[in-house]
Amino acid sequence: MSRVLIIGCGGVANVAIRKCCQLDDVFTEICIASRTKEKCDALKEALKGKTKTVITTAKVDADKKDELVELINSYKPELVMNIALPYQDLTIMDACLECHVNYMDTANYEPEDTDDPEWRKIYEKRCKEQGFSAYFDYSWQWAYREKFEKAGLTALLGCGFDPGVTQAYCAYAKKHQFDEIDTIDILDCNGGDHGYAFATNFNPEVNLREVSAPGSYWENGHWVEIPAMSIKREYNFDEVGQKDMYLLHHEEIESLAENIKGVKRIRFFMTFGQSYLTHMKCLENVGMLQTTPVMFEGREIVPIKFLKALLPDPASLGPRTHGKTNIGCIFTGKKDGKDKTYYIYNVCDHQECYKEVESQAISYTTGVPAMCGALMLLTGKWNTKGVHTVEEFDPDPFIDALNKYGLPTRENNAPVLVD
Ligand code: NDP
Repeated sequence: MSRVLIIGCGGVANVAIRKCCQLDDVFTEICIASRTKEKCDALKEALKGKTKTVITTAKVDADKKDELVELINSYKPELVMNIALPYQDLTIMDACLECHVNYMDTANYEPEDTDDPEWRKIYEKRCKEQGFSAYFDYSWQWAYREKFEKAGLTALLGCGFDPGVTQAYCAYAKKHQFDEIDTIDILDCNGGDHGYAFATNFNPEVNLREVSAPGSYWENGHWVEIPAMSIKREYNFDEVGQKDMYLLHHEEIESLAENIKGVKRIRFFMTFGQSYLTHMKCLENVGMLQTTPVMFEGREIVPIKFLKALLPDPASLGPRTHGKTNIGCIFTGKKDGKDKTYYIYNVCDHQECYKEVESQAISYTTGVPAMCGALMLLTGKWNTKGVHTVEEFDPDPFIDALNKYGLPTRENNAPVLVD
């Protein structure tokens, strides 16, 4: 019996909500709250008669703490699931602290306005000190550790697939497979085809900011930054086949470098097709990825926001996406004094996801772990107070839940390594 407030009603939230409603004995009451209430109402209507979960809806601007506090105080949830955008992480965490309620999200904080001089000062200092220049990092949310711990609350950060499941895979490898982990390669392959020349699989603004940024990896205790898309490898993915993949900066590298003691190198690779890269480069070159407003016919517009309005809504890709995703981690290290390699991953089929929850596999592979993370918190399997990332918790019940609710684990004890 639990009451959960879910903020956001986009591609990922749609999957998480539908999955919560499949477990209606745990998620007995849900309030779906978002900026556009009509989307919440439409989802409630679509789920009518299919679940015992009692669903209510609300309008909220999650950039405004006061609105959030009012909603949380009136609904009185045990948990707030933030499945809106990373821009809202801090206001929602503040509201959770004020209302004394647990918190979780699927992506770490980044500001919407990267020209804000206050933020920029801190960002530039961090770039110099840490050596990576991504707009997102954990420092903003880690600054809440003591506040959550003192309040006796848990904040679970980044509980999607990557970040999220990839960190549970690391915790699992550490617990069951290795005495020492030397290297971790996280491989994110989307072998799906939606038939458009160019579209993003999740929020275009967040996605394009991430992939157009310089890449970086963790090696021997520090960050190594490289120009965007400058390290390319080919890999033959189980059930997908041969793909080009590129080294990206990714948020879980930062927390894994802290939590997997002794690890020497952590890298993250994502597959991209040539058409995606050519379009992205062209859009970048003409200034369409800019986050700074420009004047157009007497009014200000933000180019990347305008581009978002032109691109297909990721939530609409479901019916037309065919193929599979394959996401997982390859480890090297030692067990019982011997060298060892190990690959743990999941393969997910876009059309199977669509049949089940009317979504493509990118939203599915994020929404299912979000539901499973909420399940861990609500059932008390994960109850450490403070602000934590997934690898800090026991991976076993979470991986069991993923196996049961749609993202089964596969293992390979002799994987081909990435050079
Ligand atoms: P969408 O753009 O599809 O959905 C975002 C939702 O948040 C929309 O319903 C939007 O409302 C709502 N929203 C935006 N701003 C506000 C606000 N100020 N107040 C209230 N609601 C707001 O995004 P996705 O579903 O694709 O992504 C959701 C999250 O998941 C993102 O943080 C993304 O980074 C993360 N993600 C994580 C992954 C992982 O593996 N960990 C992978 C993929 C995504 P409206 O409808 O009005 O626009």
